[in-house]
Amino acid sequence: MIIGIDDTDSNEGMCTTYLGALLLEELKTCGTVETFPLLIRLNPTIPYKTRGNAAVALRIKTGCPEKVIAHVLSRIEALARMECEKTNPGAVFILEKDYEKLRPVLRNFLEKAVRDVIEIQDAKNLISEYGISSKGFKNGRGLIGALAACGAMLNLEVWEHTFEHLAYRQKERWGTPREIEKESFFEADRKTYPETWDTVDLKNRLIVCVPHSADPVLFGIRGENPIIVSEAASLIRAEPVERSAVYRTNQGTDMHLLPAVNLAEIQDMHSYRLEGTVSAVPKTIPGGHVIFPIRDTEGNGIDCAAFEPTKNFRLLIRKLRPGDKVALSGSVNSGTLNIEKIEIKTLAPLYKEENPKCPSCGKNMKSSGQAQGFRCKKCGTQAASKIICEIKRDLEAGSYEVPPCARRHLAKPLVREQKSDLKIHPAR
Ligand code: ATP
Repeated sequence: MIIGIDDTDSNEGMCTTYLGALLLEELKTCGTVETFPLLIRLNPTIPYKTRGNAAVALRIKTGCPEKVIAHVLSRIEALARMECEKTNPGAVFILEKDYEKLRPVLRNFLEKAVRDVIEIQDAKNLISEYGISSKGFKNGRGLIGALAACGAMLNLEVWEHTFEHLAYRQKERWGTPREIEKESFFEADRKTYPETWDTVDLKNRLIVCVPHSADPVLFGIRGENPIIVSEAASLIRAEPVERSAVYRTNQGTDMHLLPAVNLAEIQDMHSYRLEGTVSAVPKTIPGGHVIFPIRDTEGNGIDCAAFEPTKNFRLLIRKLRPGDKVALSGSVNSGTLNIEKIEIKTLAPLYKEENPKCPSCGKNMKSSGQAQGFRCKKCGTQAASKIICEIKRDLEAGSYEVPPCARRHLAKPLVREQKSDLKIHPAR
C-alpha cells in the first residue's frame, strides 16, 4: 500500500519528514518498505504552509493494511502539532488493488498541487468518489498534500527527481542551538559538489543545509543520487544523529514552473517561466529590494523583483537596462514575479555622446565654444559635432540564479542544467 501524509508540523516543532522517518522503522513489523520514501514539495506560494510546503509518501508491502493504517493514525495523533491553528493533518492510504485505477487521477492531482491552488473540498470529493481510505484531522487540509504525495509514488517515472539525506536530532536537543562543525560542511561540499548542491553558500559564507527553526532536522544534503548525498552526510561532524532517512524528491527540478505564453495570463499564487523585454531601469526600494518591469510583444507587463534575501544577485539585476531581452522564472504574488533565475538573451546596445577624437593624434578634441564645434589644440583639426558611441555593457548574456541561501526548494540549480548549451553562471 501507499501512505501519504501531510501537515503535521508547526513553526514550534515537528516536521512531516521526521514522522516519515519514524514510520519507515516502525512499519518494519508490518511488512517491507519498498523503494525510497518521497518528499514532495508542493506549490511554494500556498499561504497555509509552515515552511517549504512538503508532503511525504511511503510504499510498503504488507499483509495487514488495517494494522498499518491504525499505527500511522496513532503516530499522527501523538506527534502532530494539533494545537497550532495552521496544522491540519491528513493521511491517505492507497491499496495495491487500486493502483492502476488511481494512477492517472492522482497524477493530475499531483501536478495541480505543485502548480496550482486546490480547495480542501476538491480533495474530499476525490476521496469519496474513488472510495479512498483516508483521515483528515481538524479541517483536513493536509489531505491535499497527502493525495499529491500518493500521486507522486504512483507515477515515479513521470517526474524528474533528486535525493535528500535528512539527519534528525535527538529529541532532548529539539529547540536548542544546533552543535555543528561548520568547516565539515564546506569540506563535504568541496568533495561532492556539483553532484550535491545547496550544502553551503560559498560567496555569502553560509551553511544553508542546516535549519534554524525548532524542528527535528539537523541537516539535509541534496544531490543527484542516494549514494552521493549519504557520502556527503558521512563527512559532517556535528551533535549525535538520532536517525536519518534518504528521500527521493522533486526538489531542484523546476516542477512548479508553468510556461507563460503571454504576460496577460499570469496569476498570483502560480510560478512561471516567462519572457519579455526590460521596460525601465531597475530601482531599489526601501528594504533593499530591486524591482523592474518587463513587457511582452503584446504590451502586457509585470513587475519583477530580486528581494533583499537574494543578496549579491541584486547587483546583477541592477545592471539591466530597457531593451534587454530576458526569460525569467519565479513565483507570482501581489502581481510581482519573485525571480529565481534569469536568462539574459540579448543585451540592448547603449549609447552616449562624446567629444570627437582627432584623426591625427587620436586625442579628444575640445569644444571651441557654444555652437562652434570642436578642435584639437595640438593638431588644429576640427569637427562640427559630438559623436555617438556605444557603451560597453558590464553584463554578459547567459543564465544566472539567486545564491544558494535564497533558493526555493523546487528551483532547479543551474549546475543541474550544465548539459544544455546555455552559457550558465551557477551561484556558489
Ligand atoms: P514543512 O516544510 O515543515 O513540512 P510545510 O511548509 O510543508 O511544512 P504544511 O504544514 O504541510 O507546511 O502546510 C501546507 C498545507 O497546504 C497542507 O495542508 C497542504 O495539504 C496544503 N497544500 C499544499 N499544496 C496545496 C495547493 N496546491 N493548494 C492548496 N493547498 C495546498
